[in-house]
Amino acid sequence: MTGQPNPSSQLFERMAVIGMGLIGGSLAQAARSHRLVRHVVGYDRRPSETEQALALGIIDEGAASAADAVANADLVVIAVPVRATESVLRELANKLSPQAVLTDVGSTKQSFVTAVEAVFGGLSSRVIPGHPIAGSEKSGIAASDPALFSRHKVILTPDDNTDPDALTRLCSLWSGCGAKVLQMPVARHDEILAATSHLPHLIAFSLVDTLAGEDDNKEIFRYAAGGFRDFTRIAASDPVMWRDIFLANRDSVLAALDHFSGDLQRLRLAIEQSDGDTLMRVFSRAKAARDHFSKMLSGQAYVTTMTQKNLIFRLQPGGQVRGDIRVPGDKSMSHRSIMLGALAEGITEVEGFLEGEDSLATLQAFRDMGVTIEGPERGYLRIHGVGIHGLQAPRGPLYLGNSGTAMRLFSGLLAGQAFDTELTGDASLTKRPMARVADPLRQMGAEIETAEGGRPPLKIRGGRKLHGIHYNLPVASAQVKSCLLLAGLYAEGETSVTEPAPTRDHTERMLSGFGYRVQREGATARVRGGGVLTAAKIDVPADISSAAFFLVAASITPGADLTLRHVGMNPTRVGVINILQAMGAKLTLSNERVIGGEPVADIRVQYAPLKGITIPADQVPLAIDEFPVLFIAAVCAEGQTVLTGAEELRVKESDRIQVMADGLEACGVSTRVTADGIIIDGQPLGGGLVDSHGDHRIAMAFAVASLRASAPIEVQDCANVATSFPGFVALARKVGMQISEEHS
Ligand code: NAP
Repeated sequence: MTGQPNPSSQLFERMAVIGMGLIGGSLAQAARSHRLVRHVVGYDRRPSETEQALALGIIDEGAASAADAVANADLVVIAVPVRATESVLRELANKLSPQAVLTDVGSTKQSFVTAVEAVFGGLSSRVIPGHPIAGSEKSGIAASDPALFSRHKVILTPDDNTDPDALTRLCSLWSGCGAKVLQMPVARHDEILAATSHLPHLIAFSLVDTLAGEDDNKEIFRYAAGGFRDFTRIAASDPVMWRDIFLANRDSVLAALDHFSGDLQRLRLAIEQSDGDTLMRVFSRAKAARDHFSKMLSGQAYVTTMTQKNLIFRLQPGGQVRGDIRVPGDKSMSHRSIMLGALAEGITEVEGFLEGEDSLATLQAFRDMGVTIEGPERGYLRIHGVGIHGLQAPRGPLYLGNSGTAMRLFSGLLAGQAFDTELTGDASLTKRPMARVADPLRQMGAEIETAEGGRPPLKIRGGRKLHGIHYNLPVASAQVKSCLLLAGLYAEGETSVTEPAPTRDHTERMLSGFGYRVQREGATARVRGGGVLTAAKIDVPADISSAAFFLVAASITPGADLTLRHVGMNPTRVGVINILQAMGAKLTLSNERVIGGEPVADIRVQYAPLKGITIPADQVPLAIDEFPVLFIAAVCAEGQTVLTGAEELRVKESDRIQVMADGLEACGVSTRVTADGIIIDGQPLGGGLVDSHGDHRIAMAFAVASLRASAPIEVQDCANVATSFPGFVALARKVGMQISEEHS
């Protein structure tokens, strides 16, 4: 086991465990075997249990009373059923040293706090309630297992007054037993456990009892299928322990039970009224949540993004780029297809949907607002539209993952709803500016609260009457434009937006695709509120922003010949193609067609030597997301490339100018960073250690750089690549790049 303290630096001198059962015995055994404490003394009200613990080598010493056990102990762990806690504390109170850390393992936490207060008149700074989220249906000392806590969570509920040294040592004790320690307030613990552990136990006990009661011989169980066995496994748990838990966590359990009973009644009504839509909505939302939960448990998806932060790309220098591939669907269109499909009348079918985490978060958010969405099944979705006024209030905040696009578009859509909403996201989204949408939305009559500095979470008040405005965008931003046009659907009169330079027009095109009239004159787009969206069929083209990595990869690699299929060629997105062509890249378009209002083509890329250019100002907004990888093209080109007018890059998922410059420097490439751009001279690329700062496009850009590097490149913090480009590593390998991934 790693992380074992050496014997001279044990965390506690003398640990007293009161209650020699499954949990107390397992903790004693784990702490002893990992040598986390010098001496373990145990006590149980049944002397036979204490004796057995001693005989099995679980404890060093057995005590005859709780008071004897805690004398001189610097750590006391109460491991008895929660209802016995107060009486145990009374037994040991006189002998407990004021210096001792007092903790417990009970499944409810307010009950422990109340017991300590009743016995000691208050909570000292060394009282730290705890609860290992590990156990078994077995009980008693014979079932104890030193590996019980390994890779399980332990929740501690310290407060502001808790002694930091005591807390650190207790955390180390649990992590030394292999557990992952989480901290939260007492009330939150009891609420969460009521919903996720106590309620399911109650339902399992109740269901088995109901069925068994219907059939005295329990004959019915003979026919029970695997589902019944899985579902009712927990009804075999210790009845005494669970009786105690329900009585100790009464209020939180009742709240969870009432909530559940209400939902069950609604399902009952739906069945009674043959309301298949409601059943579909609830079941598909539940299935999506369960799938998400399974991914979390297997360490994928959101867990990867949020906790296993350091996914590393390891790249060997060189490699080739050849083949025929299709990259995943366009992210912007995937987001918008759900939004407009949800608000349309009728069923919208979507193909080629990007199953990245951000679009899945958008999908879940609409499910949370009562929209039935079937799928995604290999990129296919069926969205049962609820009409423009059919969304329902979500139960809690809407989580939008890492997606700035989603947050800005949602804020427009939700500003005109009848209900309040709160929009949240991951740590990186929480740092991004939202005032640029909140300010003009306020001008339209919306009421929006942001956190400090105009950042998420956004709290949007429902029931506001919006009125159309004309807005001149101060910076070219498709997200702000789209946000205002979507708010315009709910506003009285006309909403118009004029942009200083062309930006992506997916929202306008897709609104038209859903039969909503959008007028476009030059740089101005207008919508009138009060219209209707009609369901559509959408075949999402491959994302040009994802294709860009392979366009550059093939352009810089001698001998490369790659075909990319069904790539979206929206004129507001083709900056990367125009810029690469201006640099001398050899791109051939074929099979050009229009699908769902959006132009699409196949692109063949063959290697050709590149030259540095001054990037034309009008191309900057059209290639804004592609600059990280275009910087790599610039390094591999002959001569100088100059980018200006790209200050927007500094407020993307990372400060993309500085983070790219730092990464290039780590690979031996010097660049000159300016306020709104960068100057890059063509030069040889070395290798090195690059920190992507969690920015997916930076990570993929350096993967491409390895094709021309002279030494290995290691890119840190790459988990977010899954947000925009699921399957990137597999596709990169398929064309001949030498990439592998590793968790650390
Ligand atoms: P257990 O195996 O039944 O062990 C509890 C032990 O404490 C028993 O030997 C019991 O003796 C003894 N005890 C009861 N009252 C006592 C008293 N007044 N003085 C001294 N000893 C006393 O139960 P457990 O599963 O370890 O549960 C212990 C605690 O851990 C509970 O608070 C429970 O909520 C919590 N917990 C349990 C699990 C789980 O899955 N089992 C998971 C997480 C947390 P008797 O048998 O004579 O009553």
